[in-house]
Amino acid sequence: LWQETLAHLERTLTPQHFSTWIKSIHFVEIDKDLVILEVPNRFILDWVREHYIPIIRETLSQIGAVAYRVQLNIAQRKSPDTTPQVPSSPEIPPAPPARDSEPISREGCGAYGLNSKYTFEEFVSGSSNQFAFAAAMAVANNPATTYNPLFIYGGVGLGKTHLVNAVGNAIHKKNPEMRVCYYTSEKFMNELINSLRYAKMDEFRNKFRSMDVLLIDDVQFIAGKERTQEEFFHTFNALYESHKQIVVTSDKFPKEIPGLEERLRSRFEWGLIADIQSPDVETKQAILKMKAEQNGIFLPEDVTLFLANSVTSNVRELEGYLIRIGAYASLTSTPVTLAMVKEVLKDILVEKNRELTVEEIMKTVAAHYNVRVSDIKSSKRLKALVLPRQVAMYLSRQLTSCSYPEIGERFGGKDHSTIIHAIKKIEKQTEDDFQLRSTINTIKNALTN
Ligand code: ADP
Ligand code: MG
Repeated sequence: LWQETLAHLERTLTPQHFSTWIKSIHFVEIDKDLVILEVPNRFILDWVREHYIPIIRETLSQIGAVAYRVQLNIAQRKSPDTTPQVPSSPEIPPAPPARDSEPISREGCGAYGLNSKYTFEEFVSGSSNQFAFAAAMAVANNPATTYNPLFIYGGVGLGKTHLVNAVGNAIHKKNPEMRVCYYTSEKFMNELINSLRYAKMDEFRNKFRSMDVLLIDDVQFIAGKERTQEEFFHTFNALYESHKQIVVTSDKFPKEIPGLEERLRSRFEWGLIADIQSPDVETKQAILKMKAEQNGIFLPEDVTLFLANSVTSNVRELEGYLIRIGAYASLTSTPVTLAMVKEVLKDILVEKNRELTVEEIMKTVAAHYNVRVSDIKSSKRLKALVLPRQVAMYLSRQLTSCSYPEIGERFGGKDHSTIIHAIKKIEKQTEDDFQLRSTINTIKNALTN
């Protein structure tokens, strides 16, 4: 069945795509209607899953006359050189990383759930993250005596998880006796639910309250979850009162997290709040260079510049592209050139460079402020609506090529002078309102990702 499927795919796909991606798939077994396949590494897995699974499933099902399901796994590494270069670096674990799942209790020492690959040494600092980076270093050097809590916020893929793990890893390295614990707030919640269900609350409380350093990633997830917030509040207090370090990350400024209890919000503001903004072109270049080197990919200067300029500000995505390029280069044994990169990333770049619409902007702004799009379009003068509306107008002008009257039209038929007024207002306000400036950047980041 697999051989026939392959033959069929070979006829359907271009030779290059077939040899690059399909040939790297290894057939494992069929179990009833489940076809199990293997690929050598995570990046091929992502690519194949994204681009080829539907056609593979369809072809299998046609040939076998059964509605097959396909499971794609990463092969356990047999010999070190079956897949050259790309996957062999420590940056890329051979199996899906334990990152946000199970807490890793490193034996004989007190680190829980940390991802050891995220260190300060591997973090590129630039103007967009300098402040958060410096604050994180300060906390790592002197836990619980500088900034407590440290609250780091910023958009998706900008390095929050990396930075908070770096704090934990540095502390752990210097003070192996300290109990350092990394948890996503979601995992904190799940563990809480389990402890409640199995009447193990004492255990739960003891565990968290005995930590010397508690790192809670993506705290926005507990917003609106009453019981979790309450428990977290008490954990926070217990640790804070006994002078233990707390670091929290979030995608938003504390005030802007809808559904976050006031008492937690105010505690987050007790210490230091540091933001991470989208990286500028220079920082992106530096990150690309570092990651390319780590992955044994040779990137010509023009390619680095092209990627830094034309692609997203989401570092995770940038990394993904780089790995795709590396995988492609090594599988086809061709050097990385600008033309090749353009070809490999063609579809993604077209989608990325598509112009945003005013509607998308309104939707994203509304989601950020937790208001309705219809309210943004309305003329209601409520304070809670005026700012989001003006921000949406401002961004529409910045991120689209629409004229003032066109923008007015989309905002429920407003006069162009209203739009001009709103834009001027925001421009003026961002001059000295740091928080607003940062909020606008966060929204922009969400839009361009
Ligand atoms: P977030 O938690 O903010 O969504 P992550 O910390 O998961 O983002 O970062 C996404 C990826 O980008 C990670 O692989 C991380 O190592 C990398 N990354 C982000 N910022 C930097 C940076 N300044 N230097 C090096 N790598 C970075
Ligand atoms: Mg994260």
